[in-house]
Amino acid sequence: MTQRLYYHDSFLYNFEAEVREVADGPRRALILDRTAFYPTSGGQVFDTGVISSEKEELRVTEVAETEDGRVIHYLEAAPKEIKPGTKVRGQINATRRRDHMQQHTGQHVLSAAFIRLYNMPTVSFHMGDDYCSIDLDTPTLTKEQVEGAERLANEIILENRHVAIRFVTREEAEALGLRKLPPAELDQLRLIDIHEFDLCACGGTHVNQTGQIGCILLRKTERVRQGWRVEFVAGQHAVATAHRDFTTLTEAAGLFSAHIYDVPPQVRKSLDEIRTLRKQGEQFKEELAEAQAEAILAETPEVNARKLVVRVFADRDMNSVKLLAQKLTRLAPNVVALLAASSPQPSVVFVQSAGQPFDMGALMKETLSKFGGRGGGSKDMAQGGLPNPEAIASAMASACERLKA
Ligand SMILES: [Zn+2]
Repeated sequence: MTQRLYYHDSFLYNFEAEVREVADGPRRALILDRTAFYPTSGGQVFDTGVISSEKEELRVTEVAETEDGRVIHYLEAAPKEIKPGTKVRGQINATRRRDHMQQHTGQHVLSAAFIRLYNMPTVSFHMGDDYCSIDLDTPTLTKEQVEGAERLANEIILENRHVAIRFVTREEAEALGLRKLPPAELDQLRLIDIHEFDLCACGGTHVNQTGQIGCILLRKTERVRQGWRVEFVAGQHAVATAHRDFTTLTEAAGLFSAHIYDVPPQVRKSLDEIRTLRKQGEQFKEELAEAQAEAILAETPEVNARKLVVRVFADRDMNSVKLLAQKLTRLAPNVVALLAASSPQPSVVFVQSAGQPFDMGALMKETLSKFGGRGGGSKDMAQGGLPNPEAIASAMASACERLKA
C-alpha cells in the first residue's frame, strides 16, 4: 500500500519519496512508497503535477488507485533514468489542488446544510471541470430551500470554523453519529470534522478553516431518478463562473443595446416580433403566388383547350414553386405546369389540374432518369431534384416534348 501523505495534510504540495515500481505497458506510470498526489476516488478528481529525480522531470497527467491500495501516477512520457529505488521529489499542481479543496469542503458544508435545515441526505457527489453537483434524496426541492441551504452554507464559511482530520475506529465512529458512514469494513476511519456543524467519513482533501472555501454559489437544480441534483461552485471557481456569466450576459445585452437586466424582456419582445413577421411573410407568399398564378394564366394561350405553363425561376425555393403550382391548378381546370427552380437546389415540379389526362409521376421519373436526377409523385403532382442547374433547360424541353407527343 502507498502511504498517503494528504491524509494528514492537504496543504502539502512538495514531498520526497522512493520509486517502488515503474509500470510499462500502454500507459507509463510510477508507483512510490509514499505520495501527496490524490487519486480519483469518492467523487473527487485526481491531482496533477511533476515527479522528478536529479536527472529528469516527469509530468503526472492522471492519478488512480488500485484495489490493493497502491497509488498509480500516470506519466506524460516514459522515464529514462528513474527506476525502482530512485529517490524522487513530487510537486503537486497547487492551483488545481486548492480548487479541489474548495469544491470538496464546500460540498461537505452544503450537504450538512441540507441535512440540518430540511433533513435531505446527500446520496452522491460529482466533481466536474465546470461545476460540482450533489444528489439529494428528496421527492421535492423548492427555490426557498435552495436559497436557505446556500445562505446557511455561506454563514458557516463566514464563521471560519475549524476543519479537523480525525482517525477513529469503526465502533468509535458509530457512536459519534456521522452524517455518512462508509460501507467498507475498514478498521480505521478518517473523519472530516467541521467544528460543531458536520462530521463525515471521507478520504479527500479539504481546507483547514471553512473561510478558505471563500464562498459557495448554487446553480441549476434538476429532478433526477433518485431525487434532486443541485449544481454548485465554490471559491475561485464561483468567481470565475460569475465572471463568465456576466460576460455572456453583457454580450447578449450589447446585441439589444440594453442593460443586462433587460435581456429577458428584450428577447421575449424579439421572439414575439419574429412570430408576427413569420405569419405576415406566409400570408404575403400566399398572396404573391396567387397574383402571379393569375398573371401567368392570363398570358398563357389555350392550345387544344389546355394551358401549358413552362417556367424556370432563379433564387426561389422548392416550397414557393410548389405553392405557385398549387395556385395555378386551382385557379383553372385545364392547366398543366412544368416549373423549375435553379437555386439554391436545382429542382422541378410537374403538376396538372384535377381531371387532366397525363401522369405527372411517370413523366417526372422518365425525365429525371435521362438527366441523373431523383424524384417522383402522384398522377397530378410530382417533384424532383437535378444534379446541376445546367440540366434544367434540357429536362424541361424533354418533358414538353413528351406532353406534346
Ligand atoms: Zn470530503
